[in-house]
Amino acid sequence: MNKCLFCKIVKGDIPADKVFENESILAFRDINPAAPTHILIIPKIHIPTLNDLKPEHSNLVGEMIQLSSVLAKKEGIAEAGYRTGFNCNEAGGQTVYHLHLHLMGGRTFGWPPG
Ligand code: AMP
Ligand code: ZN
Repeated sequence: MNKCLFCKIVKGDIPADKVFENESILAFRDINPAAPTHILIIPKIHIPTLNDLKPEHSNLVGEMIQLSSVLAKKEGIAEAGYRTGFNCNEAGGQTVYHLHLHLMGGRTFGWPPG
């Protein structure tokens, strides 16, 4: 767990461009943005993937999704539209094994994603 990159960001051992923080959630800008707005919303507790979600995480994940909507409005991308997503495991494109919700906007996305 202490090798986890996003746990290190939560602890403050690695810097991040934070846009929101409360007792359970942290949001910060992606270091390699795939869109003009690219924010990662993470739980402060270490949950590796969507596969590890338990019923007791429901409120936490609900708050993360709710926050994506609030931040989209703050970033000025809500009206035009935006993309959110969780990548899960290798085939899903996950590279950091600490749950995170991508919030991306400021350009038009294709569907389905590659
Ligand atoms: P995923 O591929 O869904 O696991 O997404 C991981 C994301 O974390 C990628 O978009 C990376 O650019 C991003 N990332 C990796 N290291 C950092 C970091 N130190 N600060 C901010 N974002 C990061
Ligand atoms: Zn972690």
